[in-house]
Amino acid sequence: MLESPLLPQTRSLIAGEWTDEGEGTLLRVKNPATGELLAEIPEAGARDARRAIESARASMALVPDPGRRALYLNRIHELLLENREELARIITLEQGKPLRESHIEVEYTAAFFRFFAGRTDLLDPHPFAVPNSPLRWVVHHRPAGVVAMITPWNLPLAMLGKKFAAALLAGCGVVSKPAPETPLSAIALFALAERAGIPSGLVNLVVGPAEPIGVELCSHPAVRVISFTGSTEVGKLLIRRSADSVKRVSLELGGNAPFIVFEDADLELAVESLMVNKFRCAGQTCICANRVFVHETLASELLMRLGDKLPKLVVGNGMDPATDIGPLIDPSAWEKVDSLVKDALSKGAKLAHGGNPDRPRGSDWGAFYPPTLIMGANEGMRLFHEEIFGPVIAVATFREDEEVLARANSSQHGLAGYVFTKDAARGTRMVTKLQCGHVGLNSSSGPTPSAPFGGMKASGIGREGGAEGLMEYLETQTVVEGI
Ligand code: NAP
Repeated sequence: MLESPLLPQTRSLIAGEWTDEGEGTLLRVKNPATGELLAEIPEAGARDARRAIESARASMALVPDPGRRALYLNRIHELLLENREELARIITLEQGKPLRESHIEVEYTAAFFRFFAGRTDLLDPHPFAVPNSPLRWVVHHRPAGVVAMITPWNLPLAMLGKKFAAALLAGCGVVSKPAPETPLSAIALFALAERAGIPSGLVNLVVGPAEPIGVELCSHPAVRVISFTGSTEVGKLLIRRSADSVKRVSLELGGNAPFIVFEDADLELAVESLMVNKFRCAGQTCICANRVFVHETLASELLMRLGDKLPKLVVGNGMDPATDIGPLIDPSAWEKVDSLVKDALSKGAKLAHGGNPDRPRGSDWGAFYPPTLIMGANEGMRLFHEEIFGPVIAVATFREDEEVLARANSSQHGLAGYVFTKDAARGTRMVTKLQCGHVGLNSSSGPTPSAPFGGMKASGIGREGGAEGLMEYLETQTVVEGI
């Protein structure tokens, strides 16, 4: 069992109390690298979710002013950084990623708290005059209501933290349902929020199965925003379920990122950027390059350079400092990645590196997948339509700019996309036409707190980060005053 000063209890936090009432069942949290049992958490159900929502709603009546809320955010920022070693250890133990990546995740999360702490100005009322009218007009931003936050396992601290920071600055009550694979990072964040002095009952954590809790979150009238990060399939279900009570949905969904390398690209920069982007979190992020398009004149050079780098990557337990790639989250993730690779090979792709992995050793742990390079990928293969979510680079070649643009945009998804070219005009033309909410031009950088991030098309609705990210949790109210 995991002993941690940040986890004095491993339970749900409802109405200001760490509770173990629940439904009588236990959620068993395991280390995906070793199978070690990390925690047993009493599972909450619909009744607990309802209590959490009602507590969040009632507490909103007493929410302090924005200046005070900014102090809480600043304090959480400090606490996250003070506890970065321990938080990183918790993330790696329950999620599997290399420890150095977990450190980056903690710092990234903390930066959202600092950013929103510094943006109380975004809540200021905005008065204006209408020509030839004696009336006074003022636009206000009011807290939207209780926010339900449903988050995935791949960045268990950051995906929750970025929502939490914005919703708290907005003055909303919170009910969070973390992924069952990684609830401990969420528990640690809530423990720190409690230490920061956030009013009891305003922020609630409900650890338990998706179905009863999700139904309650989508149907309860006090929940005004469903803020979800996860698969497109579940996102669509949440839209349908929250339609009856007309909730706002803020959805960060799946991606199918094109990574385009033109013939005039700085190839070394493109390769370095691809390596960082693709193998982060063992390829299990929504912004990982899913489809690499390289100009046909560069294909053999790209193959050679990647072929030099992939064998040097160390696959193993994320707690080992030598590890570059940890395990996939579980064996079903492993099966999915392997089936995508086999499908591509059966349809004519060539295995240039990796593949042929050993099956996971245990029944529910140790799902290590080797870094794999596939050449000759195309749209006839599943991995060009489904998120690979594993350490597999799939490369296709192209000839013309318009051809690659059409292929890049042919996906239903539009989250991240990357363009590598030294021709500024071509870069601008491509970026303008690429249907992706996050575009890297000669960069594979991910999001940052001060910039809005989110997807087009089936990759989502709304944005996280920046002023736009705060607006997800605010209702705009216009007041017109007679003089
Ligand atoms: P998922 O299966 O959609 O699950 C995400 C969360 O939704 C989990 O907490 C899950 O809980 C919960 N959930 C599932 N069904 C639900 C329901 N009916 N009602 C309420 N909650 C429900 O996604 P995942 O496999 O964990 O995460 C990977 C996906 O997330 C990928 O598609 C990835 O691209 C996407 N993602 C997107 C972003 C972004 O910013 N756009 C960032 C990270 C990840 P249970 O596991 O208990 O069902």
